[in-house]
Amino acid sequence: MEPNPLPAIEFNRVTKYFTGSGQQRAVLNGVTAKVPRGKITTLVGPSGSGKSTLLSLCNLLLASDEGEINVLGKPITEWEIPELRRKVALVFQDAPMLQGTVLYNLQTVERLHGTVLEDPVGLLERVGLTRDLLEQKAQELSGGQRQRLALARTLANRPDILLLDEITSALDPTSVKEVEELLLQMNKEEGTTMIWITHHMEQARRVGHETWLMINGSLVEQTDTQTFFNAPQHSETRRFVAGEW
Ligand code: ADP
Ligand code: MG
Repeated sequence: MEPNPLPAIEFNRVTKYFTGSGQQRAVLNGVTAKVPRGKITTLVGPSGSGKSTLLSLCNLLLASDEGEINVLGKPITEWEIPELRRKVALVFQDAPMLQGTVLYNLQTVERLHGTVLEDPVGLLERVGLTRDLLEQKAQELSGGQRQRLALARTLANRPDILLLDEITSALDPTSVKEVEELLLQMNKEEGTTMIWITHHMEQARRVGHETWLMINGSLVEQTDTQTFFNAPQHSETRRFVAGEW
């Protein structure tokens, strides 16, 4: 199949400043990149390099200060925020749960978005949870179960683009594998585009079609995952992959 030429997200010289101790500092520094549609792009880089900030710009949790972002072919400034957030969903580590049952958590998020939850059991099963959990208190779930519930809530909106911010970093190895498999299957069957931040190089290598390296607010390397790990263009990438950064 021919790849879809329209990128899911396009960043064009995107800059974001934060002010800290009275000084303005560029946290993202002229980022230019295309997120390929239907693919998984893994985003790696040292802590504090701007990865989470880049994801926050994609569903307007934050606005950029300079440059343009296009989402699904439309300038981000022209999107209605609720619609944008239905299509571009952010999931992060330890997503907070509402007090109440698993079912309540699923339904409430749905109501916020003004639609009706048709099949909570089907949704749970998609993320590897069972129907007997529906009436259990969300806050009593294990870490792995909570992370899956967070995914289920997100999937209820059938997003086109998933932004995943270190979602497996607090999980045990078995849960990590299960969550990876679930997302890989979603990407394969439904063509969901993903930007997946991870600090595990092995995970980036396992799940990524493309891998990007961010250092100090700049994308240093953007290439297919095999090239990224086997024959990167930049010495920073070699050092980062070798754990020498
Ligand atoms: P990463 O996800 O790669 O660890 P972040 O995007 O979270 O990096 O942060 C990049 C930089 O921006 C860090 O130096 C961080 O301290 C700073 N930063 C993040 N959010 C804010 C904020 N709301 N206000 C000020 N500085 C921030
Ligand atoms: Mg982060």
